[in-house]
Amino acid sequence: MSEAIRITRAATKKPKPKDSELGFGTVFTDHMFLADFQEEKGWYDPRIEPYGPLTLDPATAVFHYAQAVFEGLKAFRGVDGRVRLFRPQKHIERLNRSARRMCISEMDPDFALRSLVELVGLERDWVPSSVGTSLYVRPTIIATEPFLGVRPAKSYLYFVILSPVGAYYPEGMNPVKILVMEKYVRAVEGGVGAAKTGGNYAASLLPAEEAHAAGFTQVLYLDGLHRRDVEEVGTMNIMFRLGDEVVTPPLGGTILAGVTRDSALTLMREWGLAISERQIGIDEVIAAARDGSLREAWGTGTAAVISPVGELAYRGERIVIHGGRIGELTQRLYQAIVDVQYARVPDTRGWTLEV
Ligand SMILES: *Cc1c(COP(=O)(O)O)cnc(C)c1O
Repeated sequence: MSEAIRITRAATKKPKPKDSELGFGTVFTDHMFLADFQEEKGWYDPRIEPYGPLTLDPATAVFHYAQAVFEGLKAFRGVDGRVRLFRPQKHIERLNRSARRMCISEMDPDFALRSLVELVGLERDWVPSSVGTSLYVRPTIIATEPFLGVRPAKSYLYFVILSPVGAYYPEGMNPVKILVMEKYVRAVEGGVGAAKTGGNYAASLLPAEEAHAAGFTQVLYLDGLHRRDVEEVGTMNIMFRLGDEVVTPPLGGTILAGVTRDSALTLMREWGLAISERQIGIDEVIAAARDGSLREAWGTGTAAVISPVGELAYRGERIVIHGGRIGELTQRLYQAIVDVQYARVPDTRGWTLEV
């Protein structure tokens, strides 16, 4: 779509919260990006409008059959004061992969990138500057056809909203306690585990609630067939340092292809570490913990970047990893990624896009 982006500016601007008061996902900027899709027209009418509610018919397909996909990425204010998106192209590729799985019409990647650059550019004053803060970017596509039949909708809405977010670790990185989940599974082969779609999140709420009630921060899911192979942690990918090897489950269609996962693997390969993207049974993790070869474990995801795992509980056994403290590789990865995001080091991999 090469159409010009129509811009309607907000008449009044909202007050911006102080960096120290920022949480996650509660405050939104003054504008949002929108574009429509109709079968006969393709994507059309790209526009930036004042942030505000959408008006939708109660019969709108997304409300009933959850035909929707989303992304989550961030813009950072570097130490040089400039604003950069972190790996936006990778997120757009994934948005399109998720869309394909959910029978949603794909977007022209150049156009989607332009939507992010234009909107974040217009809202650049909203990008906070304190250490650890960022502007969270949430592109979403929903089926908008008012129709209750079960088939792919003929109309869609793409929108992008922005939310300034606080530091994930205001008091330093805190290792999390994780419950290995046997009662529920997240995905099965042939299902939608690799798509970033709202239904996966709805399905994860009950397991997370039960884990919280039992005193855990997150859930580690096992494969849907045998409940044996490690898949991912809540909304993060998982990595283990076992002896001299770093192991992470492969992208076999049941887990999300995390951009942070890819960034971490790229860095560790550059550092000359032995990386295996392979299936890893929970039994292997437990055995490694017992014999002392499980050195570190961490989750990867846009929100926290790297989240150290301090404890795993499986079948009543509690396994403490690295004494419940952050491991060196965990710390090194976190630092290396964050340094690129805030332009503390040159971006030699083309990961950032200045807006
Ligand atoms: C978004 C997401 C991730 C992390 O992906 P990033 O691109 O690293 O943010 C991992 N698992 C699930 C289920 C997700 O939805």
